[in-house]
Amino acid sequence: MEKIDIKSMTPDELLTEFSDLPKFRVKQIFSWLHRGAAGFDEMTDLPKGLRTALAERYEIAFARIVQKRVSKDGTIKYLFQMNDGELIESVLMRYVHGFSICISTQVGCKMNCSFCATGKSGFSRDLTPSEMLSQIQAAQTDESIRISNVVLMGMGEPLDNYENVLRFLELVSHPDGMNIGMRHISLSTCGLVDRIYDLAGKKLQLTLSVSLHAPNDEIRNRTMPVNKRWNVEQLLAACRHYSKETGRRVSFEYAMISGVNDSDICAMELASRLHGMTAHVNLIPVNDVTDTGYKKSGISRQKRFISILERGGCTATVRRTLGADIEASCGQLRRKHKGGNGYEG
Ligand code: SAH
Repeated sequence: MEKIDIKSMTPDELLTEFSDLPKFRVKQIFSWLHRGAAGFDEMTDLPKGLRTALAERYEIAFARIVQKRVSKDGTIKYLFQMNDGELIESVLMRYVHGFSICISTQVGCKMNCSFCATGKSGFSRDLTPSEMLSQIQAAQTDESIRISNVVLMGMGEPLDNYENVLRFLELVSHPDGMNIGMRHISLSTCGLVDRIYDLAGKKLQLTLSVSLHAPNDEIRNRTMPVNKRWNVEQLLAACRHYSKETGRRVSFEYAMISGVNDSDICAMELASRLHGMTAHVNLIPVNDVTDTGYKKSGISRQKRFISILERGGCTATVRRTLGADIEASCGQLRRKHKGGNGYEG
């Protein structure tokens, strides 16, 4: 019999599952699971018989460190192995305000953006809520720290794993669990418009980041296949709706690729399309990924692009690139581990 994924269960589900146990025991179990216990033997305040019974029926998801790379700037990239052997990546970043972790939501990705290493290795499966939690717990235990911020911006498309991601959000923010508030969580999407509307309806206080990367359909169709399903206009309409419903500013990711989306005209078009929105643009010099042929825009191009955006009434910043020396952008390390040939980044 396949064991039940106990760490993905909400407190209410646990109460129903263990209706024969006193409530305080159920709370103890939840609390152990969310402090990162890897096995039931660690739950030392539970009776031995109960621990044995639990181990027979339930499984605790765990992220085992396969590889750890520490950057000169303190950023740490983990390659984790899941219970079934699948490999995923997470990146731990140190900021003045605390630790932030970028976690994966799927093993691989179906979206196939032309500049992204993750898509090049294909899609394997969705991650469970417990596997998303395990990435945070494994990094916390490994570094003996407490993580205060989470970004769903690693491998995978979070809105393509919508139900599991929502459940993860409920669990990670639970006061008896890790208690990381929604305002400390960002979710990055390539633009699954139907799900952006669904998420807006939940009125969560998390930050929505949208990977825009192009000011128009002509360029976006070439780099991001998802644009053929929902175009830029439909995507921006969903973002406006999201801001209105949640009162939150949407943040747009824009990876600058030399000669592809970094011209003055692109900047003007971007500013005019975002005009009137409560939006912020995060410019990222594209990370070199082998096989794409893409190159980063130079510093002077970045500066000029920003100044045009600002003149057009758009707030923008160039994202600090952390961990460039350890292949910290998503999908790079897994791809290398699987033999997917070299990197320049
Ligand atoms: N699927 C989600 C989240 C994962 S990708 C999304 O698309 O937003 C995380 C971010 O890294 C996205 O903004 C993605 O577009 C960006 N990204 C992927 N490959 C990149 C590269 N080579 N250089 C810069 N940014 C990249």
